[in-house]
Amino acid sequence: MRIDIATLFPEMCEAILSESIVGRARKKGELEIYCHQIRDYTNDKHRRVDDIPYGGGMGMVMQADPIYNCYNAVCEQLGAKPHTIYMTPKGSVFNQKKAVQLAQLDNIFLLCGHYEGVDQRILDKIVDEEISIGDYVLTGGELPAAVLTDAVARMCDGVLSSPECFQDESHFGGLLEYPQYTRPEIWQEEAVPSVLLSGHHKNIAEWRLKKSLEITKEKRPDMYEAYINNSEKCQK
Ligand code: SAM
Repeated sequence: MRIDIATLFPEMCEAILSESIVGRARKKGELEIYCHQIRDYTNDKHRRVDDIPYGGGMGMVMQADPIYNCYNAVCEQLGAKPHTIYMTPKGSVFNQKKAVQLAQLDNIFLLCGHYEGVDQRILDKIVDEEISIGDYVLTGGELPAAVLTDAVARMCDGVLSSPECFQDESHFGGLLEYPQYTRPEIWQEEAVPSVLLSGHHKNIAEWRLKKSLEITKEKRPDMYEAYINNSEKCQK
């Protein structure tokens, strides 16, 4: 998969996406991520990319042209139009289901806004969908783009050691994950649940499912209800 991020602060995205599992996957060539400086695509001699809003009001608005030039340069490299997402608090709220869908794509272009946002005309021209990472407002789309990229990237082939690593986790199957333990077996007089030391795979799986159900019911009753309703539907 290839993800292109158009931003006024490429170093912010690079700082996050060059580290850890995603950084390693990029180095191994399992994943291509390019962070583009939108300013490099302006024709303004002062490298200006924003202006005051028509109609008045606070702040600045990012202009259409530099973004369009950046987008076209990426399209030219790819020889195709990438699936284009504008990161915005006005978008649909990101979740694991959306991450799974996006991980099936070959190319994604993420547009990060800043200041008051982006001229609506470029959004109307190139954007396929708008995604928010939550109901709050950040200063820019860089953290949201990095969040989305990380969530999608870890489900791409070869990034984690096996699909089980992300399938057996919170949200993937509609539940929150069971508790995890590691060495030492006893820590401050608290022992690891004995079933996890038994080597009995069926009992361990049953214990984990039971714990997942309990935790989900307690922490996210909305998810628990949806999971139970869905299981009942599947049994009918
Ligand atoms: N004026 C905009 C509004 O009220 O909807 C908010 C602009 S915000 C200060 C600047 C940029 O940050 C946005 O264009 C967007 O790209 C990004 N952004 C802020 N919060 C976000 C969120 N919750 N999810 C995704 N992107 C966000």
